[in-house]
Amino acid sequence: MRLILLGPPGAGKGTQAQKLVERHGIVQLSTGDMLRAAVKAETPIGLEAKAIMDRGELVPDSVVVEIVSERLDEPDCAKGFILDGFPRTVPQAEALEALLETKSLQLDAVVELVVDEDALLDRVKKRVAESGENVRSDDNAEALKKRLDVYRQQTAPLAEFYRQKGLLKQINGMAPIDEVATEIDGVLAAPGR
Ligand code: AMP
Repeated sequence: MRLILLGPPGAGKGTQAQKLVERHGIVQLSTGDMLRAAVKAETPIGLEAKAIMDRGELVPDSVVVEIVSERLDEPDCAKGFILDGFPRTVPQAEALEALLETKSLQLDAVVELVVDEDALLDRVKKRVAESGENVRSDDNAEALKKRLDVYRQQTAPLAEFYRQKGLLKQINGMAPIDEVATEIDGVLAAPGR
């Protein structure tokens, strides 16, 4: 199974991706995680990405497309994958289409977690409070606001992009975690996907 998880920061994409990994034995490909690993390892990509990420802006399309392309060639992706945080722009989605075509792969579905933005800010504040510190350098109100703005402008149009391709499945992301997971399984199992 090959999926994209779409939704603003804090919508629960990472949590749901992990549940899908457990249930379906496919891998989670989070470009945010890959970029954070590059920042930590101080690779050239990491050094370029750090300041951009801290501001809550997007790293260049070419950078993430290259990372994803290489990752998709690794053997653990053969059984399927969940793209979490990628694509984030229409050019990234177009690049992904071209990539999948060259690899003779097809997407099964794009699952959008639909959430209330005000509640998201509360969620992130709670996450920070519970951890007792900023777990991520972009987990602060200012960067989150920026990330939400960027999402609205650059990533939200992807819902329409994938709706037109007949791949979009919208899920209420405000429900409790297990209910969201059950709903996702329901739409993935539904005929005609
Ligand atoms: P995330 O963990 O998905 O919220 O990503 C954290 C940050 O990494 C984002 O705010 C961006 O700066 C960067 N990032 C992650 N994925 C992408 C992507 N597909 N395109 C551009 N920037 C990305």
